[in-house]
Amino acid sequence: MKLLEGKTAIITGASRGIGKGIALVFAEQGANVAFTYSSSEGPAKELEKELIGKGVKAKAYKSDAASFSEAQELVGEVAKEFGAIDILINNAGITKDNLLMRISEEDFDKVIEVNLKSVFNMTKAVQRTMLKQRKGSIINMSSVVGIKGNAGQTNYAASKAGIIGFSKSVALELGSRNIRSNVIAPGFIETEMTAKLDEKTVQGWRDAIPLKRGGTPEDVANTCVFLASDLSAYVTGQVLNVDGGMLT
Ligand code: NAP
Repeated sequence: MKLLEGKTAIITGASRGIGKGIALVFAEQGANVAFTYSSSEGPAKELEKELIGKGVKAKAYKSDAASFSEAQELVGEVAKEFGAIDILINNAGITKDNLLMRISEEDFDKVIEVNLKSVFNMTKAVQRTMLKQRKGSIINMSSVVGIKGNAGQTNYAASKAGIIGFSKSVALELGSRNIRSNVIAPGFIETEMTAKLDEKTVQGWRDAIPLKRGGTPEDVANTCVFLASDLSAYVTGQVLNVDGGMLT
């Protein structure tokens, strides 16, 4: 049985990494997928083809999640083309790490805009459609860093902690309309990006995790399937850590 058969999902930032993993697993579970990217046009178009090859409707959109007007435009186009929006996954995110002493105002603002304001932009944009449908599942990608903090990541930690407060508030506002809002807090997830890091350092991180490995995009994607599907019909306002036990 496919858990997301006939549902339509919008996933932000799916040209690579975790977002791409979610798009692929969602298509395998029967979901139609509209996804965004910021600049990776080639990989986005390739993913679009791969998803269509799995027998679902799929389309890549170049859209800056940090822009309020672009988010409105995107959701309008997706609603027109796909006919419904059942699932929103706010996954797009960036880092601009630096110690507080060295961090610039620009790098603080940019991370807040792309990681946190984007969640406001997209949630506000889908709200009307989901209210009309009287159903919806919103999944926001935070991080263990949003719960625990991390030296050198004040901007990122603030954005990811902000997502948790925002998401719980949306759960309270929209619960009566059968719209659910949950957060995933991934730990160390291995992607193309982390493959470029020094192997010895990465092994050290793996050894410190109770499950003794880094996570995969599929580990996060499978949790998204649960939160997007009717299996989690009575789950809202929660933060689910997908971290191999890192914060235990
Ligand atoms: P990634 O490989 O760097 O991919 C980021 C994605 O977001 C790309 O598709 C990128 O598009 C897109 N993006 C960036 N800025 C955007 C914007 N302004 N508008 C729309 N799309 C934008 O990141 P990742 O590691 O998969 O992480 C995905 C999410 O999980 C992020 O929110 C991150 O904070 C969170 N997370 C990751 C980890 C980890 O270990 N990897 C751990 C905890 C949380 P382009 O390709 O066009 O640039």
